[in-house]
Amino acid sequence: MKPIVYVTRKLPDEAIAALGDQVEVRMWKEEETPVPRDILLKEAAEATAIWSMLSDAIDRELIEKAPNLKIISNLAVGYNNIDLDAARDNGVIVTNTPDALTEATADLTFALLLSTARRLSEASRALRAGEWKAWTPLGFTGQDVYGATIGIIGMGRIGEAVARRAKGFGMRVLYHNRTRRRFEDFIYSDFDELLKESDFVVLLTPYTSETAGMIGERELGLMKETACLINVARGGIVDEKALEKALKDGGIWAAGLDVFEQEPVPTDHPLLSLPNVTVTPHIGSASIQARHAMMQLNAEAILACIGKKEVQNRVC
Ligand code: NAP
Repeated sequence: MKPIVYVTRKLPDEAIAALGDQVEVRMWKEEETPVPRDILLKEAAEATAIWSMLSDAIDRELIEKAPNLKIISNLAVGYNNIDLDAARDNGVIVTNTPDALTEATADLTFALLLSTARRLSEASRALRAGEWKAWTPLGFTGQDVYGATIGIIGMGRIGEAVARRAKGFGMRVLYHNRTRRRFEDFIYSDFDELLKESDFVVLLTPYTSETAGMIGERELGLMKETACLINVARGGIVDEKALEKALKDGGIWAAGLDVFEQEPVPTDHPLLSLPNVTVTPHIGSASIQARHAMMQLNAEAILACIGKKEVQNRVC
């Protein structure tokens, strides 16, 4: 019997073809809807490999009910949807897709930063609604990006790629990590100082117990009234209620959000009604090239594991 690979979302034929014919591929055939929990549990119970999406909860219950499971390969660099302790306890390898999405996600981060600073979505919506009656001296004026200070919290692969882009815009680059890194052009900063000094605070840490709620009322209170918060990391890193208040009260100037505590974010979410919030639907890595490269990494990891070879991009 061939080992079973369960793919939790419909993926393009060429991505699946990369698995070859040594495995039996089973797949949730919907592109838009995540696999229901009961079906996921049933499929996991027989699978040797799970090719998972960031929207799947791969928790202890699932891992313990999957006796044949050897590898979970997540189509994302983040893996906060997977219980790593449970995977370790059960000898299951977990892999992600670093590097392949770094530049694409940095592009989106910078696009969101520019869009937020210059109010692109607000201006575009107004034009389409017929609200553009005349050119006005201060109509839709935003914040300068060129020459401003960017503060990157989470200076890893994507953070560094954003910093490079920022340099091209003549920005002063501050960053904060738990571990200081060596850079010629980018300045390490204490967390609070970064919040106080930055015109753009960009979040690019993983979502962990340490970073959950990292930006709340206190941190937003330290930011400049003219500052923008850009979150392309994970929604739960920001306290959304505190953010809503800061945006309404003028505590900060604007926010650009690619990620939300609950995804898909409900359309009646209060943040979506604020004009100074620019939103995108978790599309950080969504370039055709990056997504295909990510899928290639998943397929390679699954095949290496099944073929008892060294598995790349392990997170455990
Ligand atoms: P990475 O290379 O691991 O970088 C993460 C950085 O965060 C590291 O430099 C790490 O440095 C820092 N960090 C971790 N915990 C921290 C803490 N408590 N306080 C301050 N800094 C902390 O990861 P990456 O590839 O750049 O990806 C970063 C994250 O972006 C992913 O985990 C994912 O959640 C998110 N992401 C989102 C999208 C999207 O579509 N929106 C796409 C890709 C990635 P230290 O360990 O020294 O602290």
